[in-house]
Amino acid sequence: MTSSLLLAGFILLLVWFLAHYNFWRPVADPKLPRILMYHSVEPGEATGMNVPPERFEQQLLQLQKRRYTPATLSELGRNPTLNKPLVITFDDGFRNNYTHAFPLLKKYGFKATIFLSPQISDIERLEPEEIREMSESGLIEFGGHTMNHINLTKVDDTTARREIEESIKTVASLASNPCRTFAYPFGRYLPKHSDMLREAGIEMAVTVKKRIRPLGNLLEIPRLSVHGGANRLQFHLILTRGRYRV
Ligand SMILES: [Zn+2]
Repeated sequence: MTSSLLLAGFILLLVWFLAHYNFWRPVADPKLPRILMYHSVEPGEATGMNVPPERFEQQLLQLQKRRYTPATLSELGRNPTLNKPLVITFDDGFRNNYTHAFPLLKKYGFKATIFLSPQISDIERLEPEEIREMSESGLIEFGGHTMNHINLTKVDDTTARREIEESIKTVASLASNPCRTFAYPFGRYLPKHSDMLREAGIEMAVTVKKRIRPLGNLLEIPRLSVHGGANRLQFHLILTRGRYRV
């Protein structure tokens, strides 16, 4: 009786471990691009949206050790043969991308692409002068993410097109640079939305599909999501397998 209970306990523990540490997934080619997705970086709780700064710094150190080549999304598009390219992306335009992430990116020489929703509500947004300063640093590229952070599949075509085009114009004006990249809010889109992006001059767009693969269709590029609670080992699994848990 006791031994069968022990066995059941052991199996449960093993299943939990394999579900939270996906060593069993195949290891991806180390030369393929790693495109990471973040949102918020600020002190406090580690959540799906927020990575505390000390953990973010630890991840940058891990990335530095693995000798990736930091690039913005556009730079990766222009140089598809970069060795071990790494693109860090932030969605939405949280003000803490300037106050907490930018100083760390500068400290370790990493680049990033930030996808801005200029009228997103419910978050503290980046200020225009902060956007300008980051853009002028040459380390940060800004891309579009619709004006109001809308789910493109839930609005009519006129609204979708206006949200896309206005965000591209506004981001280009805020960053004083052409806006050639885009992230689909919530990762939701239909083929017609990719066409709208192409017509608006967007060259590369990212989704939230967790895959490590060659770039392929430049308007459907997958990204690896980094949960704020991921520990060192789990971050290693994200970089090598694309995800760490089921
Ligand atoms: Zn978003």
